[in-house]
Amino acid sequence: MLDHLPGPGERLRCAACGNLTRFDVVTSRRTSGFWHYTVAGELTVEEERDMAVRAEEVRCRWCGSVGDVEVVPVIGEPTSAER
Ligand SMILES: [Zn+2]
Repeated sequence: MLDHLPGPGERLRCAACGNLTRFDVVTSRRTSGFWHYTVAGELTVEEERDMAVRAEEVRCRWCGSVGDVEVVPVIGEPTSAER
């Protein structure tokens, strides 16, 4: 299971089949936002931002593996540590 989701300069990869492009991702996120109601009661959520995002399940779309998906650096792009 992934301990973190890919950040800038990172991506997902399935170590079982080499898939780099298709994944089913289930996340749980804590968000904060500004809830803005009209007088009629219609809600618009503004300024929503993520406070924490956690991967619950990442499944390879090609081979269906859950345990083999890993975070790898994007090739040809500097990682955040190198910037
Ligand atoms: Zn796979």
